[in-house]
Amino acid sequence: MKRETYAEINLSNLAHNIHSFKQLLSNDTAITSVIKANGYGHGAVTIAKTLTELGIDRFAVALGQEGIELREAGLTDSSILIFTPIDEANVAEAIRNQLTMTIFTPAQAAILSQQARELQLPATVHLKVDTGMARLGARSLEEAIATLEALDTEWITVEGIYTHFANGDDLDHPEYTHQQFNTFRDIFEALEEQGYHFTFKHCCNSSATIRFPDYHLDMVRIGLGMYGYNTDSSMDGLLDIRPIMTIKSHIAHVKTVPADTPVSYGWSHYTKQPTKIATLALGYADGVPRSLSNGGQFKIRDQIVPIIGRVCMDQLMLDVSEVEEVAVGDTVLWFGDEAIGGLNLEDTCIMSNHYHYEVLCNLNQRLPRIYHN
Ligand SMILES: *Cc1c(COP(=O)(O)O)cnc(C)c1O
Repeated sequence: MKRETYAEINLSNLAHNIHSFKQLLSNDTAITSVIKANGYGHGAVTIAKTLTELGIDRFAVALGQEGIELREAGLTDSSILIFTPIDEANVAEAIRNQLTMTIFTPAQAAILSQQARELQLPATVHLKVDTGMARLGARSLEEAIATLEALDTEWITVEGIYTHFANGDDLDHPEYTHQQFNTFRDIFEALEEQGYHFTFKHCCNSSATIRFPDYHLDMVRIGLGMYGYNTDSSMDGLLDIRPIMTIKSHIAHVKTVPADTPVSYGWSHYTKQPTKIATLALGYADGVPRSLSNGGQFKIRDQIVPIIGRVCMDQLMLDVSEVEEVAVGDTVLWFGDEAIGGLNLEDTCIMSNHYHYEVLCNLNQRLPRIYHN
């Protein structure tokens, strides 16, 4: 059954965004496309297959399970880097599926080496360095060396070394990022002096790729920018990227109610005058933040209309009094590509007090993704 509420995903815009990023990069810098969390809600498998056609052969996800999903969907030739450490119980499966693992402790290195030896299968790793997130990674040269020394080099190849910036989007404080980069460089240079070799040294996410061209090194890891958004609105206009997803719905029911009519659960809204209300079959179970109750906006016939009352699990109500000739079946747009009338995701985020990464990732599986070129 076809649902009239869906996420329309324009794959030509994805190609456009990749092209824009390539303009920033030298020929020596590879792209890793970050497709964790179901490709930031866009559908990891279709996004990965489209990117493969565009020549991208390196992907990154957060979890081993996300890597396996891509392998099972037929992405057998690409490199897939897993950002978080793999639990001991899953290391063998990760090796068998040729997932590139992130390591940063001697204990992880020892487990991986032992399991690769037992399986008689090679494995590839990237060494993570923590230069300022206090999240994951070796926090000193000593920790990095101890990790590398615990690897059985007969079975394990160290393909890369990387770190992650905490403030790559902060236009006011580039010094934070400079400081992290210097720490990273000191560590990889010291390791190289000791004879270690890394094919891919990398540190830039989307915002750092745009803002710090000197830090591209051998590879950049782009996520949000590829989907068409800047990490921070202060970066708008720095790179020509377009949202690739637009959320569409249609009016399921429309009616006019008298003044003083309570709307939705809890009666948090009463109409002030006779009001034309449109109901959409779209709710928080699809990913509309409930905090958009009495505040969020949609677009009908080029006019912006407000949500009234609470967002329900599967439905929400709009005040469409100002829109002439609304009828059941009319298309309604939420955020998305402004070229086709989608609202700005950033505005939705300000209204809902959510982060744009979060709104995208929260789009539920129930919401169909419709792809076109
Ligand atoms: C998510 C993630 C990225 C991609 O970040 P964007 O801001 O979406 O470009 C890059 N590197 C790491 C380690 C990540 O976790």
